[in-house]
Amino acid sequence: MKTLITGGTGLVGQAIQSISTQYPNHNFTFLSSSDCDLTDFSKTLEYFKSLQPDYVIHLAACVGGLYKNINYKVDMLEKNLTINYNVLKCCHLTGVKKCVSCLSTCIFPDKTTYPINENMLHDGPPHTSNDAYAYAKRMLEIHSKSYREQYGSNFICVIPTNIYGPHDNFHLNDAHVIPALIHKCYLAKQEGKPFIVRGTGSPLRQFIYSEDLAKLIMWTLEKYEENDSIILSVSEKDEVSIGKIAELIAGEFDYLDNMKYDTNYSDGQYKKTADNSKLMSLFGDFEFTSMDEGMKKSVRWFIDNYEKCRK
Ligand code: NAP
Ligand code: GDP
Repeated sequence: MKTLITGGTGLVGQAIQSISTQYPNHNFTFLSSSDCDLTDFSKTLEYFKSLQPDYVIHLAACVGGLYKNINYKVDMLEKNLTINYNVLKCCHLTGVKKCVSCLSTCIFPDKTTYPINENMLHDGPPHTSNDAYAYAKRMLEIHSKSYREQYGSNFICVIPTNIYGPHDNFHLNDAHVIPALIHKCYLAKQEGKPFIVRGTGSPLRQFIYSEDLAKLIMWTLEKYEENDSIILSVSEKDEVSIGKIAELIAGEFDYLDNMKYDTNYSDGQYKKTADNSKLMSLFGDFEFTSMDEGMKKSVRWFIDNYEKCRK
């Protein structure tokens, strides 16, 4: 079976690569933007026609943390709408048997009740900080559902919570909170300066280790047969504050005594608590990596790969 991973060079794509030998029945192709620019429809179609994938895991996206979402709304909207349109259309035109696309728990409504479940995705506007990204991702769900309803295509979506791990993007301004703070703490310690955490530290988030998500996405591809999207997240009990995450990171660097909050920066949405009970009802014995272990591995990877990692 030919299995194409779009976004194969990113955080999640690399995590699938790292477990790929556990799936000998899949002949994987890990696509990067230099192999094919998925914003270009004719190149995307040419690529799909030449590879003829049986399965597609669609991860490619214009991705970033809170401050990238605030500062680059046109990119977040246009690039993601275009990539998603092209990939789904080409999956359809080349007869892909199953396409699993990636949404995010950060695209749920801002004003909502908690915990958030799969049925609440379109129940109200997203938080203004990431509305451009959120609406593009919501359209990916509508697009997949439309293919299912009009053509019977097996196109579905997974909804992961915040992800972290090796091969992340560690950019100081544009990255998600964990990689951005790992990089900031590393520099702060080297320079003997304060470790600056943006916002108040009070917002709450759930985090999934990238390799756990890779396993769950492969499970979705191979075993999940329902039509509706599924949240791939740790439990509500594992929700942690940004302050706690910053302390965990500072602890890894042994730099706990020089941490400061810069409250000139936005906190973003206070919380997005996601309900993973659908996943647990189908795959109850899945074992998540603890935050302590995942963070240790991520910090180690960043230090070992400082020169060449994305930052
Ligand atoms: P990432 O590390 O930023 O990687 C993005 C991937 O997309 C890279 O492989 C990149 O290729 C590819 N890509 C971007 N633009 C492209 C284009 N025009 N043509 C072809 N490929 C292109 O992203 P990630 O964190 O692994 O995210 C994977 C998926 O999970 C995304 O759909 C994202 O929205 C979703 N998600 C992420 C998080 C998170 O916390 N990271 C949370 C929830 C959901 P190059 O390497 O060549 O640039
Ligand atoms: P979100 O979960 O989609 O909001 O995205 P992020 O992964 O970017 O997490 C944002 C939360 O982390 C907000 O509450 C920020 O105030 C907080 N935070 C603290 N320092 C940083 C930082 O350096 N970068 C980012 N992206 N977020 C930070």
